[in-house]
Amino acid sequence: MEMTKWFDTNYHNLVPELSSKTQFRLTSTKPIDEFQEAKAQGIETRTVLKGPATFLQLSKVKDDANPNFDRWTLLDDLLMVYAEVLRRLEQAGATWVQFDEPILSQDLDQAPLEAMKKAYAFLRSAAPKLKFCLTTYFGPMRDHAARVAELPVDLVHCDATRAPEDVERLAKALRKDQALSVGVVDGRNIWKNNFDASLAILKKAQAAMGDERVWVAPSCSLMHAPMGLRYETQLDAELKSWLAFSEEKLHEVSTLAELAATGKETAALKENRAAMESRRTSTRIHNPEVKQRVQSVGEQDMRRASPYIRRKEVQQARLNLPLFPTTTIGSFPQTKEVRAMRARWKKGELSNEDYNRFLAEETTRVIEFQDNVGLDVLVHGEYERNDMVEYFGEKLDGFTFTENGWVQSYGSRCVKPPIIFGDVSRPEAMTVRWSTFAQSQTKKPVKGMLTGPVTILQWSFVRDDQPRKDTTFQIALAIRDEVVDLESNGLQVIQIDEPAMREGLPLRKTEWRDYLNWAAQAFRLASSGVSDETQIHTHMCYCEFNNFIDSIAALDADVISIEASRSDMELLEAFKEFDYPNAIGPGVWDIHSPRVPSQAEMEDLLGKAARVIPVEQLWVNPDCGLKTRAWPETEASLKHMIAAAQSARKNAREPAMV
Ligand code: GLN
Ligand code: ZN
Repeated sequence: MEMTKWFDTNYHNLVPELSSKTQFRLTSTKPIDEFQEAKAQGIETRTVLKGPATFLQLSKVKDDANPNFDRWTLLDDLLMVYAEVLRRLEQAGATWVQFDEPILSQDLDQAPLEAMKKAYAFLRSAAPKLKFCLTTYFGPMRDHAARVAELPVDLVHCDATRAPEDVERLAKALRKDQALSVGVVDGRNIWKNNFDASLAILKKAQAAMGDERVWVAPSCSLMHAPMGLRYETQLDAELKSWLAFSEEKLHEVSTLAELAATGKETAALKENRAAMESRRTSTRIHNPEVKQRVQSVGEQDMRRASPYIRRKEVQQARLNLPLFPTTTIGSFPQTKEVRAMRARWKKGELSNEDYNRFLAEETTRVIEFQDNVGLDVLVHGEYERNDMVEYFGEKLDGFTFTENGWVQSYGSRCVKPPIIFGDVSRPEAMTVRWSTFAQSQTKKPVKGMLTGPVTILQWSFVRDDQPRKDTTFQIALAIRDEVVDLESNGLQVIQIDEPAMREGLPLRKTEWRDYLNWAAQAFRLASSGVSDETQIHTHMCYCEFNNFIDSIAALDADVISIEASRSDMELLEAFKEFDYPNAIGPGVWDIHSPRVPSQAEMEDLLGKAARVIPVEQLWVNPDCGLKTRAWPETEASLKHMIAAAQSARKNAREPAMV
């Protein structure tokens, strides 16, 4: 199954595949087992199921014989399985069950809404004794709210942090026998709740519905927030006093419920006000210089000196690259040894001197390898980096890190996002050392390697006291300074990765324009401080380009590399209609598996690309960084890739022979 990000989170969702042959049956009793396990310990839980409409809507139709297959014809069959789960939960003694229908935060056509109506009517009669809670989160229901209120459910939950307007809307629309769960505690962030603000929202619901019909809750699942602050021993007391992780959030929920019910000015409320005030006025957060600099950003700062056609000439005159230039995306294998050395250095078992000597050896070796194998634009290998966001966060002011702030990303894999708590600035150069060192080892151009502002924002916990755009512009200015430093230290090519650009897209299409505008501006702000001669690359690793390609063009990067091999260059369809102006390297090697693609396969992919993109615009590269690969397949695959590029050059020079 394909993996996609769950809404605008960094959690990976496995996408079920549907076809006219799909048949559903219950193969796991996990929800019932877990209910019973908790019950045996005296805890009655509300089992959470992905709602049937969300399940079908977020699946993918894969039916070669029947590509226009209507997924909603599967609903009846699917509902039989849900009914069986409900019956078993009822037998096990459950009172409540929760259905998550987060698609309600998206634009929907009639089919999923009709499916919801049918589904909950059916399930209601299948399990008449169970109480139903229907939830949505991550965004407003908007016009879906009226339909939701008509469903035969006992409790409706909305995300009051992202959609406070839903509270009033639902409070008016719900029937007398229905209750409203108000998600006032942000499950997607790490900041302490502002009690006064939350109580104001709750009051509106209370006024419209009466206290008995109002529930207090986190906005969404707490899987998107770290476990608890008690696992943090390094964070200083002041910072800690501004934060709330999952355990603290649960306390906030019960405190808020109490405050809402009693209306009393308790010590907890006063303490909360003091924490809000301390954060609002802290000098650690506010840096007037940074704010001033963002204020004074103008159009001219977000534009290269000359248009691409002109830049292309001067860059080519300087770099003198062949047709189908070859490069990689940045990292080379992070072997066990590399990771072990970094771990030892972090623990203090290895001196700075020894660690740097080790990094220098690795970098020298990877440059030599790239030179020998015949790549055209080299990279330094990223041996000094643990993670492409953490590395920069650690070097920027305004960021802090946790010891155990893990959130689930996929299966047993977790990520530990940095926390952006204050105005962002760059105290000193971050990457110049290793990039210039690498460049000093070769005559070929080495690409400087940076992470872009939108990706740094997207993969961090962000401030809730200023718009995301403002934080992104602050990061963009810090990256801009780094780009300029790399240029003045002799780097002729600089890549700014933006793999998270697409997952930052708002859930509603009406908001896309605005986001894409400022995201592109931030990228251009980061990349436009250099002269025409310096070649700016970017990289993105996903293959859905529909509705998006014009925004990629708006970045005005001289070269972009993208993931393409897994979809067999299918994404290049978008290029048929849209004349992408700049250079592009559609990945010809799927680096997500150890398989070594043959030269012929890569030639074939290049041929497909050349059918929709003029050959003068094409670059040859893997799909993504090689960090997770081992050396044997890296060596073999890169040799094939370079041979494929050579043969493509030959064919382009002698078109008669094709
Ligand atoms: N430069 C990064 C690397 O090669 C890019 C990683 C990514 O796209 N996720 O590792
Ligand atoms: Zn990538």
